[in-house]
This record gives sequence, C-alpha cells and structure tokens, in this order.
Amino acid sequence: MTLVIPALPPATVPVVGGGDFPVHRIYCVGRNFADHAKEMGASIDRGQPVFFMKPADAVVPGGGDVPYPSATADLHHEVELVVALGRDAGGVVAEADALALVYGYSVGLDLTRRDLQAAAKAKQLPWDTAKGFDHSAPLAPIVPLAAAGGHPASQRLWLEVNGQPRQQASLDTMVWGVAEILHELSKLYALRAGDLVFMGTPAGVAALQRGDAWRCGVDGLATLEGRITG
Ligand code: MN
Repeated sequence: MTLVIPALPPATVPVVGGGDFPVHRIYCVGRNFADHAKEMGASIDRGQPVFFMKPADAVVPGGGDVPYPSATADLHHEVELVVALGRDAGGVVAEADALALVYGYSVGLDLTRRDLQAAAKAKQLPWDTAKGFDHSAPLAPIVPLAAAGGHPASQRLWLEVNGQPRQQASLDTMVWGVAEILHELSKLYALRAGDLVFMGTPAGVAALQRGDAWRCGVDGLATLEGRITG
C-alpha cells in the first residue's frame, strides 16, 4: 500500500499501569439519566436509547487545557462514565455476553455547544456540530477492568467547576446499563476493540467560561481535571 498523503497517527488515551489505548470510534448515549432528560425538556423513552458520535481525534487525553470552541457562546459540561472496548463484537452481542467486550472504564466530558444543539433540535436537524467538534472529549486515563475492581455499580459520578459542585449522581441511576447499551449499539454498528462509549450525563449541566477550572470523577475509579482556555 502506498499512501498518497501522510496518515495521521491514531488517537490514543493512556492506560493506568502503562501503555496507550488506540481509539477507534466514540459512541455517546443521550438522555441516560432521567433527571438530565427532564432538565433538557425531554422524557425518557425506554424503547430506544439515543446515540450520537464524536470523531476519535476529539479526545483530549488526560484532560488539561481545552480551548474554548469556535461558533458557540454556550459551551456546556457533561460528565460521563466511559466504557472502553477491548474486543470486537462480531455481530449483535447479547446482553449476557456484552460485558466480556469491556477492556476498562474511565471518566470523560461530553463537551457540548448547547446553543447549536438547541438550534438543531428546533429544526429537527442532526447534532453533529453541537457534539462532534475538536477537543470535545476530554478523557482520563483508562482503568483496565481488573484494576477497576470490576464493572461499575453504584459509584458516584461527579463534576465541580472552580471548586463548586455542578453534577453528581450514582451510576445505578442510569436508565440504560452498560450491557444494555452495548447490546443496542451492536444492532446498529460493528463494535470493535478500540471503541469508546460515553454513557450519558446526570442533571446539572451548565456553561463553562474561559478560565474555568473543572474537576470530575467516578469515585474509586478515575479523576480528570482541566481548564478552559481562550
Ligand atoms: Mn452527553
């Protein structure tokens, strides 16, 4: 094979204990906490989870400085549990088999241009420009499953901005659990080793301004911090 232009290196995220995780795709779940769906004026439909995607190179590995994005005046934080897949699904995966695909877990931010999302929703247009922009996925180092002490259960997911609490919830209040989400995603896409799944955010989403310092985490698993730069 002769590449006619240079290929970019793969997007990667450090792994706790050593090595780097190559990112294939980033799937995101919308409306996975009832309290957040309510604050956004939506109701939960148990029939079908909401999915969207970000490009793999939207990851900001390890957090740190995140530039305020172009084309928005309403950048929002959404703290989320992140699932990292270590195996290919090879077709539709049953819920009972889905957790065997998991390599590990982390915590990340689904940064959102809320004004563009609101405009898209109003016109029934796609969310891509609201969600899939550069630097829109700050992500803590991935914790392999063994080091994570198993699959998340009822740990606290939280975020603070400039030391003030903004979001917190127990992971057992997610509408769709990890196995259910992987089953549903596998009906739509070929899940591969290297995929990340952002599991959705609880209530308390709000604006980030230039200069704001944010910290977030999943208790006992991972923390992430950074700052919005100008
Ligand atoms: Mn989200």
